[in-house]
Amino acid sequence: MPTSTIRITDPSVDHLIQAAPADSCSTDLAAGPWTFDTVPGYGPGSSMGDVIPTGAPRQGELPAEYREAGEDELDSRIRAAKAALGDRAVVLGHFYQREEVVQHADYVGDSFQLANAALEHPDADAIVFCGVHFMAETADLLSGPAQSVILPNLAAGCSMADMADIDQVEDCWEQLADVLGPLDQADADGRVPVIPVTYMNSSAAIKGFVGRHGGIVCTSSNAETVLEWAFERGRRVLFFPDQHLGRNTAKAMGVPLERMPMWNPRRPLGGSTAAELEESKVILWHGFCSVHRRFTVAQIDQARAQHPGVRVIVHPECPMEVVDAADEAGSTDYIRRAIAAATEPTTFAIGTEINLVRRLAAQFPQHEIFCLDPVVCPCSTMYRIHPGYLAWVLEELVAGRVVNRIQVTDDVAGPARAALERMLAAKPRA
Ligand code: SF4
Repeated sequence: MPTSTIRITDPSVDHLIQAAPADSCSTDLAAGPWTFDTVPGYGPGSSMGDVIPTGAPRQGELPAEYREAGEDELDSRIRAAKAALGDRAVVLGHFYQREEVVQHADYVGDSFQLANAALEHPDADAIVFCGVHFMAETADLLSGPAQSVILPNLAAGCSMADMADIDQVEDCWEQLADVLGPLDQADADGRVPVIPVTYMNSSAAIKGFVGRHGGIVCTSSNAETVLEWAFERGRRVLFFPDQHLGRNTAKAMGVPLERMPMWNPRRPLGGSTAAELEESKVILWHGFCSVHRRFTVAQIDQARAQHPGVRVIVHPECPMEVVDAADEAGSTDYIRRAIAAATEPTTFAIGTEINLVRRLAAQFPQHEIFCLDPVVCPCSTMYRIHPGYLAWVLEELVAGRVVNRIQVTDDVAGPARAALERMLAAKPRA
């Protein structure tokens, strides 16, 4: 399909997010992310239609010198600031970040790999996390008290994480206690009525809730191991925020769909009957990732029709029908490793965020690698990190000032760490 370039009015916008208007989910992607800092909302990209919670963090105005600087100037300023800081600062870049940011990262990976990378640098004063809010919170939970975790743009949240609000989750817990009885009381088998499990992609407040109630965190790589851990300790699981990861994982483990009711926080008993909740094995929170929700079975059919022999790999945050129709499903790290392991030239159709798919295509030119979704539509909140913000926070550090620090309060941090430690200790069945 022929593409042309959206007219770039700002010299420093992401040149990789370029496509004919018909091929891009928003022409606003041609604007600098600071255009949206004063406006409530997730900004252009896949989450632009999602409702942002009241009180979601907002970014103050980025100084004009960074908004007006060109790509080359920002590049050299970032390099100079990093050189001046040396080992005092570590820059982490998520797989879904734009290339102009990732090229400055000391480590590139998924949220959990990056949290571990932060752990490996206990002597760094600052951890600059080019990702989204919950990732910076997790890094703060795992880093030392004297270390500052910095999110270059405070508006880089995550619409999926925002879908599990702590007040709604507390309310859900109370309603479940009304139906299932005291939630801390174990039966004769030693299992409590429900174990809360949260995906890594959730706020620290949710991880703290889970930690306080005997629950655990999971990633897209270890969700099955974590569910096994939870089923050994509870008769059922309350899984949030991503219904798709929960459903896809539990289905692969043999849990029937009729035993996985959805909890819609806007409806009494989440929209289920008391009997359905009593019969449940996994209660799925009504959350989703707007990036991965875009993938469809029709896209897979089209890829197979146009590329006979194509290998389709999707992320488990995609809807169940898409995961079922794909050849394989796995985390971003699984996708990267699967491509790296292919010894023969292969055509891959990938169902995950566009920046990662483009980077994989550039890294593995021996393969043909394309995104299942023909429309260029990046994660809205990852898009909010731009080299301008990175240059700003790094130069502030050089000047001895810490801006955009993310700190989890002590009352939340303790139980949230407990939930993370349970995950680290959970082992797959031998
Ligand atoms: S890709 Fe989805 S889950 Fe990841 S940060 Fe973006 S909205 Fe959140």
